Amino acid sequence: MRDVAIIGGGLVGLCAALVLQHPRRRVAIIEATAPGQLQNQGLNARSLALSASSAQIFRALGIWPQIEASAAPIRHIHVSVRGRWGVTRLRAADYDLDALGYVIENGALSRCLLQAVRACDNISVEHGAEFESLAQDATVSIEYRKNDRGRRLEAHLALIADGARSRAREALGICHRTVDYGQSVVICNAEFSEPKIDTAYERFTPQGPLAMLPLGSKRYACVWTLDPQQAAQVMALADPEFGARLQDCFGFRLGLLERVGARFSAPILRTSAERLRRERCLLVGNAANALHPVAGQSFNLSLRDIACLYELLIDQDLASLDGDQFTSIAAEYENLRAREQRQVIRYGDGLVTLFSNELPLFDHARAAGLGVLDLLPALKTQAAFAGMGLSFGGNRLLRGHL
Ligand SMILES: Cc1cc2nc3c(=O)[nH]c(=O)nc-3n(C[C@H](O)[C@H](O)[C@H](O)COP(=O)(O)OP(=O)(O)OC[C@H]3O[C@@H](n4cnc5c(N)ncnc54)[C@H](O)[C@@H]3O)c2cc1C
Repeated sequence: MRDVAIIGGGLVGLCAALVLQHPRRRVAIIEATAPGQLQNQGLNARSLALSASSAQIFRALGIWPQIEASAAPIRHIHVSVRGRWGVTRLRAADYDLDALGYVIENGALSRCLLQAVRACDNISVEHGAEFESLAQDATVSIEYRKNDRGRRLEAHLALIADGARSRAREALGICHRTVDYGQSVVICNAEFSEPKIDTAYERFTPQGPLAMLPLGSKRYACVWTLDPQQAAQVMALADPEFGARLQDCFGFRLGLLERVGARFSAPILRTSAERLRRERCLLVGNAANALHPVAGQSFNLSLRDIACLYELLIDQDLASLDGDQFTSIAAEYENLRAREQRQVIRYGDGLVTLFSNELPLFDHARAAGLGVLDLLPALKTQAAFAGMGLSFGGNRLLRGHL
């Protein structure tokens, strides 16, 4: 019997294990893939932006030094609209912070988390373990398959962290809503001749936003939103032609684009579960909310969800809780998180609507909006703190201690 079972050992499942474990709790993770599958490195790596709130949570867990060693700080953010004068700049120093956020390769983050998980005797990870079904009564009973053999795991609490197409969510009968933004994202890394190593760029174009995030030295992670036809076109180009299109869209703020890495494209969808709980099972990560990548918020939001769960469960002996007590903790979790999740979803949707609309009126409005924002420190601070995940109220982990 385990105290906590986590279905899905992706970035969020691993974080959840580290947050919820303590010496008297036994935690088990079941993960379908073999270890170390996020291996793409260098120019071909995939990466994500960690907000200041995520850094704070990792500090509380004592694993920030390892993560920081592989992460590139964002000390400046430059937001502009292609072909317009409106620009806004955010600077970490204005908020007394070392960085507004950090960019890290998914593979490097996953390795740090896995290493930390392996250092905890009370967390077990089963790789190559495919979730099949679950049943709930006084405990949660999880059936999974490993090496062609059916196995079972019992736990007092289960976290569902198996991603946007969650099978476990489906097994619980929890419906989800998918919003198709009618856009696609093209992702690649690029090297520039005049890098500004701690500056991130968000550039809004009529086709959609283009983010250029610093990865250290000359390397930037590019997240380029386009309509699906244009995405298919640029994906079909050879590297030199693709580089020229990207340079034309982004401009010359970082000098000449010298090299691009492997490209990847996918339709942009948002998937939200209609509820976050059923009896002893709670949804976290992409299984709960998989958001549009433009705002770079899904993982950061999930970490704050888990930080909230930490606070609710900190003094609880999970083995001694009856069904009603679980229900009331789960309901509190859902209530506490609903407002912030809605706000973050609205923020992402708002950015897509405002910055992807080709009507000239919108074009002037967004340029003027950025110009005005740059002149209004209070408003800018509010926007910056929302982006950093620091404006949603605190809990122990967000304050940086356990
Ligand atoms: C282009 C792009 C850019 C992004 N940028 C950012 C960013 O800058 N900042 C940010 O906060 N977020 C960002 N995100 C979102 C972020 O990547 C996700 O929020 C995060 O990776 C979700 O992690 P997860 O563990 O919930 O889900 P997943 O990464 O999908 O992991 C789910 C895990 O469950 C396992 N699994 C699935 N099915 C089963 C099964 N049946 N049995 C056992 N295991 C199973 C999978 O193998 C996987 O390991 C971005 C996303 C994209 C697409």
